[in-house]
Amino acid sequence: MRRSQALAARAEKLFPGGVNSPVRAFRAVGGEPPFVERAEGAYLWDADGNRYIDYFGSWGPMILGHAFPPVVEAIREAAARSASFGASTAAEGDLAERIVACYPAIEKLRFVSSGTEATMSAIRVARGATGRKIIVKFEGCYHGHADGLLVKAGSGVATFGIPGSAGVPEEIAQLTLALPFNDLAAVEAAFEAHPGEIACVIVEPVVGNAGCIPPAPGYLQGLRRVTQKNGALLIVDEVMTGFRVALGGACALYGIDPDLVTLGKVVGGGLPVGVFGGKRVFMDQLAPLGPVYQAGTLSGNPLAMAAGLATVGYLQKHEDEVYARLERLSAAVAEGVAGAAAQAGIAMATNRVGAMWTWFFSEGPVTNYKEAAKSDTQRFGGFHRAMLEAGVWLPPSQFEAAFMSTAHTEEDVERTIAAARGAFQAQ
Ligand SMILES: *Cc1c(COP(=O)(O)O)cnc(C)c1O
Repeated sequence: MRRSQALAARAEKLFPGGVNSPVRAFRAVGGEPPFVERAEGAYLWDADGNRYIDYFGSWGPMILGHAFPPVVEAIREAAARSASFGASTAAEGDLAERIVACYPAIEKLRFVSSGTEATMSAIRVARGATGRKIIVKFEGCYHGHADGLLVKAGSGVATFGIPGSAGVPEEIAQLTLALPFNDLAAVEAAFEAHPGEIACVIVEPVVGNAGCIPPAPGYLQGLRRVTQKNGALLIVDEVMTGFRVALGGACALYGIDPDLVTLGKVVGGGLPVGVFGGKRVFMDQLAPLGPVYQAGTLSGNPLAMAAGLATVGYLQKHEDEVYARLERLSAAVAEGVAGAAAQAGIAMATNRVGAMWTWFFSEGPVTNYKEAAKSDTQRFGGFHRAMLEAGVWLPPSQFEAAFMSTAHTEEDVERTIAAARGAFQAQ
């Protein structure tokens, strides 16, 4: 760890907490985050030459593994034609056509450069289209770091126990209602309490940012029904689940037809891409057609489009094989580690949907944020440190989902389960 330590000491002086995104700092699990030098397939190498099996995949994007050759080649070719034009290109249409084919709810879309921008813009469209101010979100769901969406948010906000964020005016936070996930009655009650005032409901269809929490049967359909009945938009935030739980995301997996969908992570193949899109009638509210303003200097960036196109193109072409493999390996590792915990007498609730899962150190069940928060985070921290020591890099928080890639092998899974067995014996 000598080089990593020296790099960390420099970073502490340059970046708040030594990082450019809070959860990278490992504060929740203890220990020092290794500095990454390179990655290939399922493996990361740190600045001291140690190798790790990667289960956070850049927090979601790397579904085909790191430095996947078609993606590398696409970026290389695009870069040789210049990194940015600030004018329209064919590649934007090419990627958009593929997205529309996978997500029928998306009739029109806009590319942006992050998931945060995507959800922020989708909310603006919903408010512009309805003329209403209030938005409904769910406790433990994370939709990026825009002002109105940090209320009772997941990811780092949950990890560090921050109820909201300083710097977000109360007047703005008050326009966000945060309700418990998987509780349809709470949503119905909110619409009754605020008739004609709620612009939209935004949801992570499978929560990933409080750890993995699947929707209860019928819950998402219920949200569709209630929003429709009350003239509010349903925004399904698929920044994490899109192209991950299925090619068509949670919309396809659960058969839901939202008004707006947001994408990010996988859709950019590791480069900064976000998408918001949906029904034509709402998307046509955007400038230059309509009064809702939204823009971006690097939106639809050619390198990002190339990486996205190579990634989504591969997933589309090899859909059956890719998702069957992800399912098989994810089930094997999730159940294998859960079995090792049971053998060691350690309480563990395992939630998984396709290639995303969480091992909660809790009796379970975990169906909402309150239940996730009952997990033994100290124990998770010990588990994380022991796994890292054994060469397995898990997301550094109890409230984050782990991810599988197509580059992982049965052998990686076996080694992971063996590492977990060792970690549990030591606990
Ligand atoms: C990661 C994430 C975001 C934010 O995306 P960024 O690219 O980090 O801004 C939004 N919504 C969900 C569901 C996410 O997982």
